[in-house]
Amino acid sequence: MEDQMILLKELQGLDQKLNAIGQDQRKLETEREGIDAEVVRIREMVASLEGSISELEEQRSQLRLALDQEQANIEKSEGRLPEIKTQKEYLAVLKEVDTAKKLNKDLSDQIEAKNAEIAALTEEATEKQQSLTEMEEQISVRCGEIEEALKSFEQTRQGLVKERDSQIKPLSRDLQRRYRLLMERRAGVAVVEARNGTCLGCNMHLPPQLFNSLFLAQEIKTCPHCSRLLYVVKED
Ligand SMILES: [Zn+2]
Repeated sequence: MEDQMILLKELQGLDQKLNAIGQDQRKLETEREGIDAEVVRIREMVASLEGSISELEEQRSQLRLALDQEQANIEKSEGRLPEIKTQKEYLAVLKEVDTAKKLNKDLSDQIEAKNAEIAALTEEATEKQQSLTEMEEQISVRCGEIEEALKSFEQTRQGLVKERDSQIKPLSRDLQRRYRLLMERRAGVAVVEARNGTCLGCNMHLPPQLFNSLFLAQEIKTCPHCSRLLYVVKED
């Protein structure tokens, strides 16, 4: 029985190391996911800015077309003026030209406004693109570190798994099963020391008879409170 308890204690030590490595791996993976998400977020921001810019540019070229057309109309009307015979018609054409000029002024103002909007968005997009480029440099360094760390964790993990496999083999099926269930249900601690009549897993007092029987180590005993497998450290 003592041999089995020794094996179980060592097995638990390996499992705890494996758990710790698993946590470290997950932490790094989470960090990497966060980095990836941030890059995607900024890329999407840049893309959306670029989309807005080309939309504005399209609107601006429509306005420019309208302005050109209106300008051509003005020139055409003004060209007709010298040929006009009646005062009434003359005034009518002048009025037409005046209206067209007002419209042109309005179109020019709208084009100016689009220019300003485009310039502002372009500046913003350039800034975002720059910070993205800087970020990508830092990120590639950090991701390289993460990659290396994950690789070395994985190597350690595989070594531990092998060790664990050979450790668990000599244990009876029943004991393996009890151990596994306890690991799951008792926060990764299945095997605990009993000291001064107390279970160090749950800190409850053990019946004296049970505690004393642990020193004989004739069979594997469990804590009546937390069901963990108990051992005692014998002083020489
Ligand atoms: Zn206990």
